[in-house]
Amino acid sequence: MTIFHKIINREIPADIVYEDDLCLAFRDINAQAPTHVLIIPKEQIVSLDELDSDHQLLMGHLLLKVREVAKSLGLSGGYRIAVNCGEDGGQSVDHLHIHLFGGRKLNWPPG
Ligand code: 5GP
Repeated sequence: MTIFHKIINREIPADIVYEDDLCLAFRDINAQAPTHVLIIPKEQIVSLDELDSDHQLLMGHLLLKVREVAKSLGLSGGYRIAVNCGEDGGQSVDHLHIHLFGGRKLNWPPG
């Protein structure tokens, strides 16, 4: 069980900005931008690499929720998402999550 599963189960607190049956969105504890939110499926999926065709609808749902959350948090100037996958991808929590960054001009390329 990961720390994100504990957040889903309300075993540890988080600043939750959106929730439905399939997903949860909460502010990252170590924000890298004025707005930094993590959108996660409630289903325990380790990483992008673990997805199969059964997850097609779920992943579409997550992306549409990114858009909704960005709008609800006032990111009218734009925003960025990132999904770190595996060790080389910089993934540190083994529960699939989409980072949503916004609230400042973001640099490109990322490191
Ligand atoms: P990754 O490095 O796996 O792509 O991203 C994991 C993210 O989870 C990091 O940005 C980290 O700051 C965040 N994080 C780790 N533990 C917690 C926690 O307990 N609460 C919240 N809100 N974010 C966390």
